[in-house]
Amino acid sequence: MVPYSLFHHPNPLLDHRQDMTSTANSGARSYHPSAMNHHSMQFYSQPKAQSRRGIIEIDPFRVDPIALSAAGLLTLPPNFPPHADSIRAEIFSQKKTSQHTDPITVLDFFRQKVISAHGGNMEQAPTIFSYARATNFSHLIPTQFGVSAPRVETHAAEVAYTVREYRLRQCWGDQQPPGQQETWKHGHCAENQSLPSVVARCEDLGLENVFIETLAMNRSGNFTGMCRNCLSYVYFCVLRKHPTWRVYDVYTTNLFLIGRSLAASQVRNRP
Ligand SMILES: [Zn+2]
Repeated sequence: MVPYSLFHHPNPLLDHRQDMTSTANSGARSYHPSAMNHHSMQFYSQPKAQSRRGIIEIDPFRVDPIALSAAGLLTLPPNFPPHADSIRAEIFSQKKTSQHTDPITVLDFFRQKVISAHGGNMEQAPTIFSYARATNFSHLIPTQFGVSAPRVETHAAEVAYTVREYRLRQCWGDQQPPGQQETWKHGHCAENQSLPSVVARCEDLGLENVFIETLAMNRSGNFTGMCRNCLSYVYFCVLRKHPTWRVYDVYTTNLFLIGRSLAASQVRNRP
């Protein structure tokens, strides 16, 4: 089964309704995205620095993004952690060109760009890559990309800690997350970078009935579903705060929802 975006599905809720308690993988198989049509890739094959309307674009995949951000040459949110691949995901997300093509293809392209930024050394690349985007039919929140935090054994523990702390604030704010339910900590996952900025943009716009799409793939290009740490973020920080919103994991095809939508399905299932 090829994961596919539901943004243009006539009724994304019809065939994929599952409640928050059901997180089983619904038979999705591993799929390698290199089999996809990469016709849109020419869009991104830009030279190292390109002059457009007199502005020099700097390619953070070729130039050290930590040095670029320290020099003020990259526009990053305040207190953004000094982790090269997180910066690359942020800058890549800001490029308008990433908003007009199939996000699954663009995610795989982003993965390949990051690996090539590490000289093709897979061991140095992030373990997981992800994207998120949202719509409520009148608004389209642009695609945001993310990478998993550095592993302690390959980076200074301090950087890994700083990245996780930044993401914990983005995801959980003042709330204390429940105990970790995986062998990795809260804030480690790629989704902890891609999801919260999409959520924040929807909140800033005061949107209701938001449909959020999320997908993760590992550095070999195989898709993976959300982990239990991410699911507790989705439940406590997204769905419980916004009962009309839904979160869809493109790979597992699980649709997470609570409140009004769940109540409707419970009523229908009554004998
Ligand atoms: Zn996770």
